[in-house]
Amino acid sequence: MRITLVSLFPEMARAVTDFGVTRRAVENGLLTLDTVNPRDFTEDRHRTVDDRPFGGGPGMVMKVAPLEKALAAARQGNPGARVVYLSPQGRPLTQARAAQLAATPGLILLAGRYEGVDERLIETEVDELVSIGDYVLSGGELPALVLIDAVTRLLPGVLGHQDSAAQDSFSGELEDLLDCPHYTRPETYRDRSVPEVLLSGDHERIRRWRLKQALGRTWRCRPDLLEARKARGLSQEESEL
Ligand code: SAM
Repeated sequence: MRITLVSLFPEMARAVTDFGVTRRAVENGLLTLDTVNPRDFTEDRHRTVDDRPFGGGPGMVMKVAPLEKALAAARQGNPGARVVYLSPQGRPLTQARAAQLAATPGLILLAGRYEGVDERLIETEVDELVSIGDYVLSGGELPALVLIDAVTRLLPGVLGHQDSAAQDSFSGELEDLLDCPHYTRPETYRDRSVPEVLLSGDHERIRRWRLKQALGRTWRCRPDLLEARKARGLSQEESEL
C-alpha cells in the first residue's frame, strides 16, 4: 500500500518508518510512505502557508493554494488514492474503518496545523474526514501516524501468525469485545500467580476462560461495546458465560 502524508512536519513520519512493525512493513515493501510538504509549493520569500482568518478571531488558517498544489503532487505520486483530512470533526477512527481503509489501494493523509485548513480545500479536494477521538491536538501528524499504524498492521503479510491482528480487541472473534488478560514468565511474581487454567494445557478450557474474561472486561470497561455485541446477537456460549 502507498500512503502519502501531506504535512508541514514530514520528519514526524519517522515515528512510523523507523520503528517496530511499521518499519518492517516498509523494509518488506508492504508499505510505501511518501511525504509532501506544502511549504515547498509556496511562491513568496517567507514560504507562507498560513494567514489570518476572515471574520477575525485567534489563530491562523492554512491557505488553499499551497495545499492544493501539494495535494496535486501527492495525487501524481499516488494515483487513485483516497484523500483523508485528519480532523477532530471527522468520523471517529475504529478498527472496522481501519480495515476498510487497509483494503484501498492508496491513501493521501492531510495533516492540518493552526486552526485548520481553509474550508474551500476540504470542499473540493478531500474525500473524507477522520478523527482519532474527541479531543484537540495541535496538528494532524500524530492522528495520521495513528491511522497509518492501525492500517499497516492489517495489511496482508505485515503481522506474523503469532501476533495476528485477528486476536486483538475489536477484531475477528473479538468484534465489539476487549481482549483478555495476557501473562508470560515467571509463573509467580511478587506473590501474584498466573491463573491456573493457563498452565493446564487444556485448550478448550483456556478458550472458554479467555472468552469469559473478554466479556467481563468489556462489561466493566466498555458496556457500550457489549450492548452493540448483544444487539448483533450473543452466541449461546456467550450468554451462558
Ligand atoms: N479548530 C479545529 C477544530 O476545532 O476543529 C482544530 C484545529 S487543531 C488545533 C489543528 C489540526 O490538528 C487540525 O487541522 C487537524 O488536522 C488536527 N487534529 C487535532 N485534533 C485532532 C483529532 N482529534 N483527530 C484528528 N485530527 C486532529
